[in-house]
Amino acid sequence: MQRGLVALAKYVLISDLTLMYDYRDFPLLDFLPCAPSGSVPGAIYNFLKGSASPPLPNGEAKYAPYSVRKIEAALLTRNKPEDVAVPHPDYIEQFIKDDTEVIGVSTMDPLGIAPLTMSYEVLFATHSSPWVRREWEALIHRINLARRGKKAKLIVGGPGVWEFTILPEELTKEGIDYAFQGESEDVIPYLFEQVAQDKLDPNMFYQGYASFDDNFRMIFKPDGRFITRRPGGRRFPRLEDIPNIVRPSMKSMVESMRGCGVGCDFCEVTLRPLRYYPVEKIEQEVEVNVKYGGFTNAWIHSDEIFAYKHGPLFKPNEEALIELFSRVMSIPGVTESNPTHGRISIPAAYPELISKLSEIMRAGPSNWIGIQVGLETGSDRLAKIHMPNKTLPLRIGPDGSWADIVWEGVHNMTLYYWRPAFTVQVGQSDETPEDNWETVALINRLSNSEAGGRPFEFTVTPMLNVPLGVIKSQSFNPAMLDESQLAVYYASYRHLAKMAKRDAVRDSKGNFIARMGTAGIISFGGWVMMKVVESICKKRGVDIEKVKRYGLESSSTSVAVPVPA
Ligand code: SF4
Repeated sequence: MQRGLVALAKYVLISDLTLMYDYRDFPLLDFLPCAPSGSVPGAIYNFLKGSASPPLPNGEAKYAPYSVRKIEAALLTRNKPEDVAVPHPDYIEQFIKDDTEVIGVSTMDPLGIAPLTMSYEVLFATHSSPWVRREWEALIHRINLARRGKKAKLIVGGPGVWEFTILPEELTKEGIDYAFQGESEDVIPYLFEQVAQDKLDPNMFYQGYASFDDNFRMIFKPDGRFITRRPGGRRFPRLEDIPNIVRPSMKSMVESMRGCGVGCDFCEVTLRPLRYYPVEKIEQEVEVNVKYGGFTNAWIHSDEIFAYKHGPLFKPNEEALIELFSRVMSIPGVTESNPTHGRISIPAAYPELISKLSEIMRAGPSNWIGIQVGLETGSDRLAKIHMPNKTLPLRIGPDGSWADIVWEGVHNMTLYYWRPAFTVQVGQSDETPEDNWETVALINRLSNSEAGGRPFEFTVTPMLNVPLGVIKSQSFNPAMLDESQLAVYYASYRHLAKMAKRDAVRDSKGNFIARMGTAGIISFGGWVMMKVVESICKKRGVDIEKVKRYGLESSSTSVAVPVPA
């Protein structure tokens, strides 16, 4: 790096470093930082996390998480390019100078209390911090050392800010000046100016945070450590106030919409207003990634891609989806694309749509379309309570059970080379042991099914809903999981071990040695994880043999889900 080229930066934007690694481009390895540091040794963690985004000659990062790129673009609407810097992780200190006014850090899971991280902590009953928290604390320590004696204010933002609303004392302990809660593109230039001057305009901002009461009504809690948008004012930026990224995002991710609208009762995304990006806006952002990032792929982010410009009863808008992916794939330089999240009921009900999208995205045996899917449960009863619209336009009952809909969806996805990464929840409200055993039966059934002569291709990760009181007391242990919940864990990790063994070599990237190293660790790690869960289950008296065969005798491996008119 030519250090002399580092410019004074009035505003320095930094990402939680766990969002800056490539994780060897192996599916699901992005979840690695959720693992406890006492259970995954440093040498293995450091190997598997791969490399950080490369540095540019001036010390900035070539790629940054999409959220950071959005904030950068928003600040540039009222600032000169040289006033805003996004440093490479190795050169952060060199951008924090006497004249730096604000350092903004974006985070997803700073305290390691997000559901997946908590699930590991409970399972391993560990007192060692998860890697995501260790990396966060090390980063904030570095930033605080660099700004010591200088005027720069430290403000954190991003989807992980809710964690500080649960444990606000951590802001004080970590020496963070403010946590900003909410979407911000239309107000962030004013926020940074006002934070730098220590003078917040009450017509724009509120010192405190939004929360929900027992009736799920939004309330505002005053707290000088937090800033959010003014209650009663516009809570979200309008589409036209969200600027396009101007520099490349990690993994070439771009947004296609915000909000969802499906209305699952555990999901905060559904509370945000729906805003669809026009295809031109998506194209423009992909072009930035191709031109300045050298990418050949485009990750199209949403929380529910099949809701993009959807019709009545959440019927997918086939025309809009086909246009979106056709135009992305027509951008010169783009050879691969995939959506980040979607519902399973659409592949179940619209196999022809999935087939067409596969053709457009050039899916095939060496190009599986990875997508995250919230499966949540195998139980009809819980699905109807917590996510009654997630099956639409199909309905549980007339169109089969939830398990039938899921089976048909995975069948069609496997047929057309899509690989869902499922999450299932345990510890939902109203849950009974029977609900969890239905989840076990579904996982077993999927794990033993085939489509087009291929075994069903999917992963499944269990997540635990931990009560706030337990998060605050940090008193985690596997005793929090009952027999049926442990059975869900075991069925999930048993399937993951099977997938890791089957696909680790095929899905590893890099040179021969790196591929073999990654494949060996993944495959062995999958087996070890299954054995650890098995041993916990045995100690707790869970009948392992029952889990292995549960639901297989009674299940059929073929269902017919009708296509809605
Ligand atoms: S479909 Fe997904 S994003 Fe939409 S409300 Fe349900 S869980 Fe949230």
